[in-house]
Amino acid sequence: MPHYPPEPFRIKMVEPIRLIDRAAREAALKEAGYNVFTIKAEDIFIDMLTDSGTGAMSHHQWAAIMQGDESYAGARSFVRLEAAVEDIFGFKHFMPTHQGRAAENILSAVLVKPGQYVPSNMHFDTTDANIRARGGRPINLVIDEAFDPADPHPFKGNMDIAKLKAFIEETGVENIPFGMITVTNNAGGGQPISMANLRAVSETYHEYGIPFFIDAARYAENCYFIKMREPGYGNKSPLEIAREMFSLADGMTMSAKKDAIVNIGGLLCMNDDVIFQKTRNELILREGFPTYGGLAGRDLDAMAVGLREGLDEAYLAYRLGQTAYLSERIKEAGLGIIEPPGGHAVYIDAGRLLPHIPHAEFPGMALAVELYREGGIRGVEIGSVMFMHEDPDSGEMVYPELELVRLAIPRRVYTQSHLDYVADTLAKIVQRADQIRGYKFTYAPKLLKHFTARFEPL
Ligand SMILES: *Cc1c(COP(=O)(O)O)cnc(C)c1O
Repeated sequence: MPHYPPEPFRIKMVEPIRLIDRAAREAALKEAGYNVFTIKAEDIFIDMLTDSGTGAMSHHQWAAIMQGDESYAGARSFVRLEAAVEDIFGFKHFMPTHQGRAAENILSAVLVKPGQYVPSNMHFDTTDANIRARGGRPINLVIDEAFDPADPHPFKGNMDIAKLKAFIEETGVENIPFGMITVTNNAGGGQPISMANLRAVSETYHEYGIPFFIDAARYAENCYFIKMREPGYGNKSPLEIAREMFSLADGMTMSAKKDAIVNIGGLLCMNDDVIFQKTRNELILREGFPTYGGLAGRDLDAMAVGLREGLDEAYLAYRLGQTAYLSERIKEAGLGIIEPPGGHAVYIDAGRLLPHIPHAEFPGMALAVELYREGGIRGVEIGSVMFMHEDPDSGEMVYPELELVRLAIPRRVYTQSHLDYVADTLAKIVQRADQIRGYKFTYAPKLLKHFTARFEPL
């Protein structure tokens, strides 16, 4: 049996969940047009749709919420958040935002001009969309190993420095308002970036005078991967590693719904005084006064506490241990996953399990449907439904290489028996994999199909 780390907490408030019977699950699927996004949360037993905003807050966070200062300006809650942000990230300026994408919107509004490029290892979809919304072009320059699911590279989120240099030379610095990197690389399987790579990225951007922003949604998980995998960091605390990481950058955007373990919130930080003034004005226009940024005072307090808890070593060992455990159990069930397991989720290779279902009949969707049918479990397809598109030149349909189902693990929410149940359910599905059929659309919008599309079994 793979090792399961005992949870470094005990439970004093519970939220009941229920497994509706098979006939009811079948009816729910039919009503939802076989799209798990449109099933009522009430009818889900184990919900692994996302780790965003779905974490459980600690009693310290709930206590902090009761001390929230709802003053419009200069609230004590802001001062407490400021202290945590300065201690961990060390940037000269910061502002709270209501989510990560709000920080991305403000930064893009201030810095991106039409036709300009923003490189990263891989942009997350909201970052990608916010750059495009300002007429910019997001560019992904992750190392090639990221595209091979079997490659055991310890830092598969790394950026390819040679590609980055060549890209800057070709594009010209005047066409690159800022550069980014996403830690961990969510769009690439939650894979970490090494400190050595972060340093090289920072040096490269700075050599050309390009401001460097980190998308820090899962920075704490990334810090713990560095501690475990990168020589020279074994004896450092996650906080020390975080300080070193952010000292390399000129600013950051962050969704606090991930590693700050809150249900809502985000951050935008930077050193530059001029950019700060402009972003602050944009913040006031879009989000609110600079000391609350679209959040209630109590949300700021929950974030201030959550930022510190997210860096706790016992918590991070448990967190990444949980992902590793579920990965091992899923492999024991006979499934392929993206190796090595990342921080926040397990990515199952549905294409390998269902080779008889072609891309056009959505093998990832088919597995996501079976997970719900067999066990009331919700995961998300990351495959053709999400990414297929018509080639604008040839008019031919282009399908992604991998057909995946992502099982994201909410923070501090599910126990070992929940994860065992997920693995056991998958094992049952593997037994009858050859009988699983594909799907076809009965309705599909042009963009972002996966949220609202409806299907019919073939
Ligand atoms: C979630 C996420 C975002 C966007 O944050 P929201 O809080 O959902 O707006 C941006 N980047 C990464 C890497 C994320 O995981």
